[in-house]
Amino acid sequence: MKLASRMSLLGTETAFEVLARAKGLEAAGQSIIFLGIGEPDFDTPEHIINGAKSALDAGYTRYTPSPGLPIVRECIAADMSARQGYDIAPSNVIITPGAKPIMFYTILALCEEGDEAIYPNPGFPIYESMIRFSGATPIPMPLVESQAYNPDPSELEHLFSTKTKLVIINSPNNPCGSVIPDSTLQIIADLAKKNDAIVLSDEIYKDFYFEGSHTSITNFPDMSSRSIILDGLSKSYAMTGWRVGYGIFPDELVEPITRLITNSVSHTPAFTQMAIIDALSSSQESVANMVAEFKIRRDVLVDGLNKLPGISCPMPLGAFYAFPNINGTGLSSRTFEQRLLNEAGVSLISGTSFGEYGEGYVRISFANSMENIEEALRRMAAFLANL
Ligand code: PMP
Repeated sequence: MKLASRMSLLGTETAFEVLARAKGLEAAGQSIIFLGIGEPDFDTPEHIINGAKSALDAGYTRYTPSPGLPIVRECIAADMSARQGYDIAPSNVIITPGAKPIMFYTILALCEEGDEAIYPNPGFPIYESMIRFSGATPIPMPLVESQAYNPDPSELEHLFSTKTKLVIINSPNNPCGSVIPDSTLQIIADLAKKNDAIVLSDEIYKDFYFEGSHTSITNFPDMSSRSIILDGLSKSYAMTGWRVGYGIFPDELVEPITRLITNSVSHTPAFTQMAIIDALSSSQESVANMVAEFKIRRDVLVDGLNKLPGISCPMPLGAFYAFPNINGTGLSSRTFEQRLLNEAGVSLISGTSFGEYGEGYVRISFANSMENIEEALRRMAAFLANL
């Protein structure tokens, strides 16, 4: 069968492949600690589960409008207005099955051959994959360790050109755990305006701050009208398997994005949409408790990593990933990933799964139990001692 040639442009997310390989080893009897996939180990809070059950009982089992149920869009708009500090209308909210489709639809709607799109590297792999798929040219925005895994502010201007259509940012960042300082957000905002570029701001980790608090680029003057906020419930409410996300779109994008949804999935399931109301309108204690627990685990993991030979790890400020430098081990990132899995039963992800600027690093998720984190550190110490 001959695939359409565009399929050769589409990449993938290797975290899922690493997970499959690790699961295979576990099924074959090996003890594996999973620090690869980016998923909270907490359960979805009970009141949200009950909300979905009640929605099913109440008959939320039918088609809904493509951009989502009006009552749920209103709820998200109210929540996001309060968080962001400016008015967001329900008509600018579009609900999607998970947050990932916000990237897919936004890039398909905006980018094409001849355009350039700037994206963080290392960064979530789907950005680069989707930019290539759209026909546009991906322009990596290197996140460098010397800048606390942020772009070098003095280099940003060189990334932009008259062809720049889209700039993607992600703060707090996957895989680095970094947070873009306000001064750098300001520079990106100014450059986007000067070059008439749109910003896709991936804020899915906005609740995961271990120091400081969240600033959205949409808070800078005239930015909300040229920005898309990507957000969702997967991380904050431990709902990765539910597939509930949403985007906040400028007026001009609402109709085209809605059309893409109508042409693909029609809409997000009705009863999972209704559970968004239960998540956003009730106490946020479960989120705060999870973040507090992740902070304790972060400290243990980073402290332990910095004691290992050949490894150094800056302190992540947000999300739930550590991104240690492994250059001192003498192994490439991919070899480190594979050998640690096969020889020590610890599954983590090569930094190169997030782009070429990830060479020399690996991503470790600390959304796992303290017991597993401590055991992983012991196994890594033994592995490194035998290198
Ligand atoms: N953006 C980033 C930076 C992510 O890490 C993820 C999930 N790993 C997503 C978006 C997608 O989230 P969802 O599972 O809701 O599609």
